[in-house]
Amino acid sequence: MTDDLAALFALHQAQTEFLVAAYDAAPHSTRKAALLGEYRCRQRCGLLVAWQAPGPIRLARLRPYKLSAGKNQAKSTPSARAKNTLDGDRHWRSRVLVLDDLAGWPGLALDLNCDHYAGHILASELLAEIAEARPGVPVRRVVPR
Ligand SMILES: [Zn+2]
Repeated sequence: MTDDLAALFALHQAQTEFLVAAYDAAPHSTRKAALLGEYRCRQRCGLLVAWQAPGPIRLARLRPYKLSAGKNQAKSTPSARAKNTLDGDRHWRSRVLVLDDLAGWPGLALDLNCDHYAGHILASELLAEIAEARPGVPVRRVVPR
């Protein structure tokens, strides 16, 4: 990666973190008015939330989750576990995605996990579903469907 590209990536990352912090700090009514999508399991765990940030930038956050030891070993590498888990092993961090960045990765599978459900949604599916939403008029999905 060139220095310019690395700087651009760092700026993008910092902007995303700022927008997430702003969303988290906003009053409930503001977050509700920005909401584009909510994905839940049948027991109501929030698996994914998508919202319209100023910019206009659309963001999504995936729930943190814990995998069983066997599934964790099968689905991940030691370096990914070291980088993306809270405990270096099975407690995976919440992830934030810039939805418009996903357009170039339509086949990317986004993991949706909680204690009741383990599955995924393709980036192309998420983008198509979110395209039906307007801020404050979100798509709401329960998985499995
Ligand atoms: Zn659940």
